[in-house]
Amino acid sequence: MQRQAETATEVQELIDLLDVAKLVVSTLEMHQVLDAILKSAMKLTNTNAGSIALYDKDTQELSIFAHRGFSHDFVGDTRWKVRPGGLTDKILKSKKPTVISDTTNQKFFTNPLALKEGIKSMVCVPLIFNEDIIGIFYVDDFSPRKFNRRELRLLYILSSFAAMSIDHARLHETTRQLAVTDGLTGLYNHRHFQEVLDKEVARAGRYGEKVSLIMLDIDDFKKLNDQYGHTFGDKVLKKLADILRESVRDSDTAARYGGEEFTVILPKVGSYQASLMAYRLLRDVTKKSQRLMRGKGSLTVSMGVSCYPDDATSRRALIELADRALYEAKRRSKDTVVEYQALTRDEVA
Ligand code: GH3
Ligand code: MG
Ligand code: MG
Repeated sequence: MQRQAETATEVQELIDLLDVAKLVVSTLEMHQVLDAILKSAMKLTNTNAGSIALYDKDTQELSIFAHRGFSHDFVGDTRWKVRPGGLTDKILKSKKPTVISDTTNQKFFTNPLALKEGIKSMVCVPLIFNEDIIGIFYVDDFSPRKFNRRELRLLYILSSFAAMSIDHARLHETTRQLAVTDGLTGLYNHRHFQEVLDKEVARAGRYGEKVSLIMLDIDDFKKLNDQYGHTFGDKVLKKLADILRESVRDSDTAARYGGEEFTVILPKVGSYQASLMAYRLLRDVTKKSQRLMRGKGSLTVSMGVSCYPDDATSRRALIELADRALYEAKRRSKDTVVEYQALTRDEVA
C-alpha cells in the first residue's frame, strides 16, 4: 500500500517536471518560465520560499529575477554585489550546490537581511551553462530542516531547466539584436530604420504630432577611401556612428542607411528644431573626429531634413524629400544642412 502511494507521488513529480520542461521549450518569456520553475521547486521540496538570481560576471552583481514567499523588505533590494567570504562567494567559487540545514550554525551566513527575514535552512544551486555560472537558484525555509536525496535530485533537475531557459532567452535576445544591427557600426540597420520610421509616422498620425527625419551623407568619402584606404574609411564610419550615438537623444533613432549614409528619426520634433539639431551634429562631427583625421583634413557631412506631416505624410515620401534636401546641401556647398521646407519656401519666393 505504501509502495503504491510512493509510486503515485513519483509519477506526479514526473508529470510536474514534464509540465515545466514543456514551458521551458515553448516560451521565451523568461520571467514566466523562471517563476513556474520556482513554484514547482518549492512544491517538490516542500519549502516556504525561494528565488532565482541572475549573475553578471562583468559587474560581479546578482539580481533577483523571480521570488516567492519573501517579505517586501527582503526582495526590495533586488541587486547585490558578491561579498568576499559570504555565501554567494562560496557558491560561485565552488560551483557546487550548498545545503544549509540550520543557518544559525554557519559563520558565512551573515547577510543581515536574510538573518532578519528568518531564513533558517536553504539549498543554493549554481546555474551553470557552458561552464559559466549564470545565476543561483535558492529554496529557503523559515525553520531548520534537512533535505533528502529525492528533493535535492528534483531541485538539480529544475536548476538545469532554469539554466537552459536563461540561456535560451539570452540567445534569443542576441539574435534579435543582430537582426536589427549594422555589423560595422553597431547602429540600427536599414531594415530596422524603415520599421521604426513606419511606426513613428503612424504614432504621430494618431496623436497629431510631428516627426522629423535627418538624412546624412559624408562629404567626399570616395576621396578619403582612395587616399587613405578602405580600412581607414571604415574607421571613419565607426567614428561617425559613435558621434551620432552620443549626440542624439534617447528618444531619437540613429541608423546606418547604407554605405556612408546615415539617418536620424526625431519623434515629436518639427522641421526647424530638427535642423538646429542637425547643425549641432554638423559641428560635433568635425570637432569630435579631429583626432582621427589629424593630418588628413576635416571630416564634414551634409544633411537633409524632412518633416511629417508638414512635408509629407508617408514614410517613403519623407525619405525621398530628406534625400532631395540632402542633394541640395551637396549642390550648394557641402558641410551644411538643408531643410526641405526652406527649399520649397525659396522656390516660392
Ligand atoms: P559626396 O560628397 O558627393 O557625397 O561625395 P562622396 O565621395 O562621398 O560620394 P559618394 O557618396 O558617391 O561615395 C560613397 C563612397 O562610400 C563610395 C564607396 O566606396 C564608399 N563606401 C560605401 N560603403 C563603404 C564602407 O562600408 N566602407 C568604406 N570604407 N567605404 C564605403
Ligand atoms: Mg553617398
Ligand atoms: Mg558621400
